[in-house]
Amino acid sequence: MLFANVAAPKALKNRLLEMASTKRIAHALLFLGTDGGAQLPLSIAFAQYLFCHNPTPQDSCGICPSCLQISKLAHPDLNLVFPIALSKDVRFSDHLVAEFREAFLAFPYLNLNDWFNTIDAENKQPIIAKDESIEILRKLSYTSYEGRGKVMLIWMPEKMNSDAANKILKILEEPPEDTFFFLVSSTADALLPTIISRTQLIKVAAPTSTEIAAVLTSAFNLSQGHAQQVAELSQNNPREAFLLADENIASTENFVLFQTFMRCCLRFDAFKISAWVDEFARLGREKQKQFMVYALHTFRNCILMKHMPQAVLGTDEEKEFLQKFHPYINTQNQEGLTEEFNKAFYHIERNVSAKILFMDVSLKTNELLNKK
Ligand SMILES: [Zn+2]
Repeated sequence: MLFANVAAPKALKNRLLEMASTKRIAHALLFLGTDGGAQLPLSIAFAQYLFCHNPTPQDSCGICPSCLQISKLAHPDLNLVFPIALSKDVRFSDHLVAEFREAFLAFPYLNLNDWFNTIDAENKQPIIAKDESIEILRKLSYTSYEGRGKVMLIWMPEKMNSDAANKILKILEEPPEDTFFFLVSSTADALLPTIISRTQLIKVAAPTSTEIAAVLTSAFNLSQGHAQQVAELSQNNPREAFLLADENIASTENFVLFQTFMRCCLRFDAFKISAWVDEFARLGREKQKQFMVYALHTFRNCILMKHMPQAVLGTDEEKEFLQKFHPYINTQNQEGLTEEFNKAFYHIERNVSAKILFMDVSLKTNELLNKK
């Protein structure tokens, strides 16, 4: 993971780069952000930088053997500890490290719920338990593989039970020489004050929407305008922004939904609208929000289609649809539609009933589409 690909404040990245270049790094760092923040990918980018064979003043090289190993979360000097659901076969992180790598590589901004959904443990208690601290001690007794030190990354240290926390505390009191502890947390309240006092705090603030948009543009090949819109709708939360921009979910399904919705709104076919709304209500909140991002993006594309058709990105089917649909959108009603869908987005976020909301949106959309 390059710093350039992490949706975190530029000033914070610079601070970490300076710590690395002046070699003033505390033996234990606490990367503290909020749920859905960039603390985990940022700590991985920092580990990559520390282990990189050819770093520049701005970033790691991304291509040396060490960078390649970190990019797969498979560097022998990067040890990963994370909450698990205890069972007979799963007693410490290494038992699930393959699953954790896969989950992180698919979605680096994952939170604890995302992780527990991945391992089908939604209803179980996430914990870092005593066996884990024994494992940590065992690993600390080895010397580093590459001679550049080791990183012991503990994601969600707030999930340590008291046995584990007390053991870790002892290690933090007398840290081994070549090991950096990265504690990566989203809720400091749940951490022992004695642990916090033994770490250097790296506060991971929310990035600006421009900083998020820059990362989205390259990660998803989005236009700048689309990326900016997604970043703003996410209210500067990187996890939310990446979920909204995920094109795998956004494209075909939303295209079909959008087409159908616009067709029945144009003529106000109440029967078809009601069937559409029923289907939409069953989708779940994340997908409903992605649909609205798609709709906002398509309204903008309609305007683009009039003035710069060559700049419109999308599949052949989408472009063919836009050819026919764009005459219904003009600068006046685009503003109204954007406002309606933006409002709907925030209502969905606040758990308003999708059925009632979208019956209302369909009425307004009908009115706006037929406005000349
Ligand atoms: Zn490198």
